[in-house]
Amino acid sequence: MTTKRDYYEILGVPRNASREDLKKAYRKLALKYHPDKNPGDKNAEEKFKEAAEAYEVLSDDEKRQRYDQFGHAGLGNSGGGFGGGMTVEDIFASFGDIFGDAFGGFGGFGSSRRSRRVNKGTNLRVKVKLNLSEIATGAEKKIKVRKYVPCSSCDGTGAADHGSFSDCPTCRGTGHVTRITNTLLGQMQTTTTCPSCGGEGKTITKKCNTCYGEGIVEKEEIIKINIPAGVAKGMQMTVSGKGNAARRGGVPGDLYVLIEEEEHPDLIREGNDLIYNLFISVPDAITGGSAEIPTIDGQVKIKIEPGTQPGKILRLRGKGLPEVNGYGRGDLLVNVNVWIPKHLGREDMRIIEKLKESGAFTPKPDKDDKGFFERMRTYFR
Ligand SMILES: [Zn+2]
Ligand SMILES: [Zn+2]
Repeated sequence: MTTKRDYYEILGVPRNASREDLKKAYRKLALKYHPDKNPGDKNAEEKFKEAAEAYEVLSDDEKRQRYDQFGHAGLGNSGGGFGGGMTVEDIFASFGDIFGDAFGGFGGFGSSRRSRRVNKGTNLRVKVKLNLSEIATGAEKKIKVRKYVPCSSCDGTGAADHGSFSDCPTCRGTGHVTRITNTLLGQMQTTTTCPSCGGEGKTITKKCNTCYGEGIVEKEEIIKINIPAGVAKGMQMTVSGKGNAARRGGVPGDLYVLIEEEEHPDLIREGNDLIYNLFISVPDAITGGSAEIPTIDGQVKIKIEPGTQPGKILRLRGKGLPEVNGYGRGDLLVNVNVWIPKHLGREDMRIIEKLKESGAFTPKPDKDDKGFFERMRTYFR
């Protein structure tokens, strides 16, 4: 995979550029590298597409935010929607408004492209379940999706072969029809999408046998999704261009990935912190001891101080989950419970009865033995 350039760098704008700045910068580049101005110049065409991709991402608030947070990885495997082989025509179809006044003004080049409609594939939605260790490190998930893909027999064109196309006779390939009507005020000109070709500008004279002219077929596909560390239940990621393919070579839709969490047998998630309920025995609480704590990276042994009160919370710093933006990490809070046996044999009962006579077991809480609400206030602000 080639390394991608920074989108802001491509457009030559600062990271806090306004929408208007982005639009201006993109327009300037698009005019400079416009294919009609640089015929046959592959480098110019690449630059033209690169700028379109950068603008496509940065002009979309949601995509821009994700790009700012996670870089190219945040946009999924394909990067911007134009990463996967979008043609110059598709770019015109998407950003017609940007070129509108620029090209309409002088000679109208690109105008026939502009008005031709490009099919857009529908978006897909999938759920991905992650366990806590996957959330802690980030994960590459492969998911099986049943979706529309371009038909391989006809390369997604829907035609039996390359010669099976002709410009739509109704609109002569422009995708729209102009009608002139006589009214009281004089002649009125209205332009509408061509009814014969639906705006595509071409018709198929002989349809592909595999897809019956649709250009797409249903297929099961494995899609790799890179999920950043620290995600949480309910978050949604967008993988551009991984949705359903469009009919007859249009732009594919997007894939929405909804994050779900698998419950951990021992650890409870609270934001980026994890909570573990530890049960120690009465003798261990009194004399001290040690306990094994499950963490995401395996078991950890901790020391139990003599005289540990039930309800004490031990904080294991940095043993929680990372922030989704990559800064900082939560803690693992060990909530210490002292387990009281419910059934004792006669002999054990006798020993406990004996302890009652000792003054050492009469409760004498000091000010460090905080009550429940104070503890909660300290640990879950
Ligand atoms: Zn037509
Ligand atoms: Zn086909």
